[in-house]
Amino acid sequence: MRLPGKLELIVGPMRSNKTAELLRRIETRREYAKQCVMLLKPSADTKAAAGLVESRNRNGCGKMKAIEFPSADPWAVLPIVADTEQRIGRRVDCIAVDEGQFVADLFLFTKKLLDSGHDVMVSGLELDFRGLPFGEMLSLSWLVRTYAGNLTEQVAYCSCGAKALYPQRLVDGKPAPYASPVIMAGDNYEPRCEKHFVLPGRPH
Ligand SMILES: [Zn+2]
Repeated sequence: MRLPGKLELIVGPMRSNKTAELLRRIETRREYAKQCVMLLKPSADTKAAAGLVESRNRNGCGKMKAIEFPSADPWAVLPIVADTEQRIGRRVDCIAVDEGQFVADLFLFTKKLLDSGHDVMVSGLELDFRGLPFGEMLSLSWLVRTYAGNLTEQVAYCSCGAKALYPQRLVDGKPAPYASPVIMAGDNYEPRCEKHFVLPGRPH
């Protein structure tokens, strides 16, 4: 029986350096721990070029090559992991996923990887532009508690100086209405506090 892996969860709003932190941890594992780390990028993440994960923080590790997979079907990754292990003749120690909020079946997929003995690192948004749970990110905290590991909350600030809790979506510089789609091309975000988070047409 293989020991289950551990989960490192990195959460926070836009511009809280989640991706930079994920890339830093991958680099540390590869460089110092000599681990094989596979970085995965869901197809719905379009902020960098294909096959690349890029941090918006210019002082961070910058960008890193990633394996792109369909957001709707993370299971397509399992044969790639198996092929890689066959090719390199050893285990993949850790699997890292950026922008986890986009991934369907994220809870079960992460659990499956942990159960099969891989460490997993996931970074992403817990709340969407409406301030509602985004994908299955919030559910992953159960896996952190159950499988050990850790949860890191990256902090971002509103322009007023308060801690930002929400990703404010802006379209043409204006707050996007509640009824706009959850995943939308050409949108723009900034981190906002409770007081400055604006959501026209919100029902509650
Ligand atoms: Zn504010």
